Amino acid sequence: MEVAMSQSDWENVTEDRQDVPFLDLGNLLSYLRVGCLVFTLLSCVLLCVVPYYAQQGRWLDDVWELIKPFLPISAEDTLDYFHGEYPYLPGDVLVPEGLVESAERQGLEEYDLQSAVAAGKRTRIPSEVILSVYINAPWLHMYEDSFVTMHAIGRTLLENGYLDPPIICPEETPVPEVIEEEDVEACVEIDPKHKAIMSLYPNGGSAWLYSVLDTSGIWAGPLGTVEIEEFEPNELWYIATIFNESLRIRLAGYKEDNILVLVNGLPVIIGTDIAPVAYPIVPDGYFVHPYPGSSITGYRFGDPVYDHGVLVRAHHPGVDLGKPGGGPVVAACNGRVTYAGWMDSASLWISGIVVAIECNPPSTDPTPICTLYGHGAEGTLKVRNGDDVRAGDWLFSAGNTGYSFGVHLHFDVRVGGGGPFCNQSVDPMYYID
Ligand SMILES: [Zn+2]
Repeated sequence: MEVAMSQSDWENVTEDRQDVPFLDLGNLLSYLRVGCLVFTLLSCVLLCVVPYYAQQGRWLDDVWELIKPFLPISAEDTLDYFHGEYPYLPGDVLVPEGLVESAERQGLEEYDLQSAVAAGKRTRIPSEVILSVYINAPWLHMYEDSFVTMHAIGRTLLENGYLDPPIICPEETPVPEVIEEEDVEACVEIDPKHKAIMSLYPNGGSAWLYSVLDTSGIWAGPLGTVEIEEFEPNELWYIATIFNESLRIRLAGYKEDNILVLVNGLPVIIGTDIAPVAYPIVPDGYFVHPYPGSSITGYRFGDPVYDHGVLVRAHHPGVDLGKPGGGPVVAACNGRVTYAGWMDSASLWISGIVVAIECNPPSTDPTPICTLYGHGAEGTLKVRNGDDVRAGDWLFSAGNTGYSFGVHLHFDVRVGGGGPFCNQSVDPMYYID
């Protein structure tokens, strides 16, 4: 759109120049106005059009190289203009030192790892997948900034159906004698994830695909329709694996094989290697109800969780609250936001638009307390990581994002250990019923 406008505006500019006598001081303002207009239009092209095309293919490498030094703001900010507001920048991400050292041996910097996590959060593609592609991509040089690269990889995967469910053809599909064009489209058993990765580098062929797959064992699952060849683990493989593991630990707060124990007669979900902590004593009014007017409409605290009859989680770590019509979800305590955005954590068992709050410790008990809120509606997030919030502040509207089958709030109260998510889950109803 900016290009079309600039075309006609350039014609106007040309006409203006013909009408105005050269060096007429009386018309200096006109010159300035025209100059400003041209400058603005050029800025628009630089800010919007160039980064967009730079993501489309390698042929614009040279243009990108030429334009880069003149970009008035950083590449990250430029992307934000294009794709809307994102809560995650590489600076928000913590990477363990050991991982940084291991990555450095492969020429990856801490910033590269941070970029992969940030891009993963923004595009909802697992960070280790993006890093895997990044390591293997033959066109890294096209971007100045690894964050832009990672982000572009994530977006490409997203746009090409990486997150789509696999297409499964019915077993008894009759093969037509004469194949019409529509029939060919009807059922082709290609995993969209496979297709998405190939789309990043179509000329790379299957050898390139396999080299991507080789960098992480996690590919074997999602890419079920692809034959994975044997490979020798190498340094890159270790980086992707360690990276994946460190992410899991960072997001987890405790291990996945959690167990339910009773502490002072009350249920607490803990990791196997964590000493259970009793329910913190809080004064009256310390907690407010995060979703006023709601009641338990799904899993209660400690319930086993099933998916199509298969046990997927031994103990539901929070409560599922619902009410007709949905509505605002509010902070249950005074504190600081330690997470605000998309999350899909198996270990925390929370997904979709998620907010986590580290509550201010109550005067009555030094045990750290955190609260987690899941499945917020798209586009309704009201807080950012690091915000100070008061009990009752609007966090998001209840939604159906993530692993969810109806508008509800997944609310989890976690205690002990500290950190952004604390260590172990206790029954929220003990505090908000
Ligand atoms: Zn739940």
